[in-house]
Amino acid sequence: MSARPASLSGLPLWDGDADRGPSTIAWQAGRITDVAPAAAASAEYSIVPGLIDTHVHLDSSASSRPGDWMTWPLITPASERSLHVVAHARHAAAAGITTLRDLSGSDVQLSAARALDEGLIPGPRLLVHGAVGMTAGHGDLFVPPHYPHRAPLADSPDECRKLVRQWARSGADGIKIFTSGGVLSIGDKVGWRNQTPQEIAATVDEAHALGMLVAAHTHTAEGVDIALEFGVDSIEHGTGIEERHWETLLERNLPVAPTLLINDAIADRRIPVSDDAAEKARAVVAERDANFAGAGAAGIRFVLGTDANGIMVRFGDQLEELRLMKRAFEWTSERAMRAGTSDAADAIRLSGTTGRLRPGLGADFLVVRGRPWEDIDVLVPENIVAVVARGELMAGAFPDDVTPTAAHPGT
Ligand SMILES: [Zn+2]
Repeated sequence: MSARPASLSGLPLWDGDADRGPSTIAWQAGRITDVAPAAAASAEYSIVPGLIDTHVHLDSSASSRPGDWMTWPLITPASERSLHVVAHARHAAAAGITTLRDLSGSDVQLSAARALDEGLIPGPRLLVHGAVGMTAGHGDLFVPPHYPHRAPLADSPDECRKLVRQWARSGADGIKIFTSGGVLSIGDKVGWRNQTPQEIAATVDEAHALGMLVAAHTHTAEGVDIALEFGVDSIEHGTGIEERHWETLLERNLPVAPTLLINDAIADRRIPVSDDAAEKARAVVAERDANFAGAGAAGIRFVLGTDANGIMVRFGDQLEELRLMKRAFEWTSERAMRAGTSDAADAIRLSGTTGRLRPGLGADFLVVRGRPWEDIDVLVPENIVAVVARGELMAGAFPDDVTPTAAHPGT
C-alpha cells in the first residue's frame, strides 16, 4: 500500500450523506486525511463513496468459461478457489463495489480476506459470515445428497452453539442463518421451516455473545416472524415481509437486503437454471412484489445486497440493483445512493471504516461522470471513470483536468 499522500481537487463531492460541493479529497496509506471545500475544476465529474454490497457469494469460478456453477466448488481444491475469490473481489472493486460481505464463507473466503487485508493484493474490503444451518436446510442443499464432502451442519441447539464458536475461532466476522427454504437449493421447498426456534435462539444468542452479527435468509412470513422473535441483525431477501412486520422492522431500524435482480433473473430465465428453480423464483417474485409495495415509502431500511456470485448476478450489476431499488421503493436517487454506501456501512457495522467520505475512514471512492445522488441513472459502468479502494487506484484513470497532486496512488 502506497504511503505517499495524494489528493484530488475541484470535483463536486457527495460524502455518503450530503452534497459537499466542489471539494478537495486527500488520502494517504489507505485512509482519507482531509475533505474540504475547493474551487470548482470540473462540472462533468463528481466523487462518491465506493459501493457496499452486503450480500455476495464469491466462491464460484471467476473463469471466463465457468462451467457448471454447482459442481465447480465440489471438484476444485480450496487453495484454487481462494484465487477465484480474490479475482471476483478485484473485479467487483474495479466495477465500483469497494466493500463486500460474503454470506456463505469458509476458509476459502477467510484466506482471501486476510490476503486483501494484509495488502498482498490490492482489492476491496471483504467481510465473511459462516453459515449455521440444518441437514436438508437451504445451505445444505447446494450439494447433492450422496456427496461426502459437506460444509458443517448443526442439528440441535448445542450443535448450533458449537458451530458458531468454530466460526468465531476461524475468524469469521458474522453468522448466516436460514429461517426458510430457498430458490436455488435442490429438492427443498421455499416454505420449508429451517431449524427449530430453539436452534435459532441458540445460534443468535451465541453469535451475539461472541460479538458477531447474524444475517437471516428468509423467503416466508413465518421465517420473518422467527428472525424478528430471536433478534437477528439483518433480513436477507425478505420476501415474506408483510405489513404486520413493519412496526418491528421500523422500531429496530433493521436492515433488509432485497436481492431484487437475482430473483427477477431466475424467474425470467435470463440465466440458465432448472425448471424447479425458475418456478420457485416466479412465486417468490410475485409474493415479494406484493409485499414490498409501500415498504420503501413506509421507511423500511432496505440496503444494497444482491446475492451476486459472478454468474447469476455479476460483479458490477450492483449499479442496476440500486436502480431497481429506487423504482421498487419509490425513493429519491439520494436515498438509493445511501442504501449502497453510508447506510450499507452502518448496517454491517463498518461506519467507522468506510461508506462515507470523511477524514479517518478508508479511501474508498469513485470518480463518476454526472451526479448519481441527483440522478442515479447516470451510475452505469461507462460513467465510472476511476475507482479507488483502500487508497489504491483499482480501475480507470483520474480525469485530466483534476490530476492528483501526487503521483497516482499505488505507483
Ligand atoms: Zn445469498
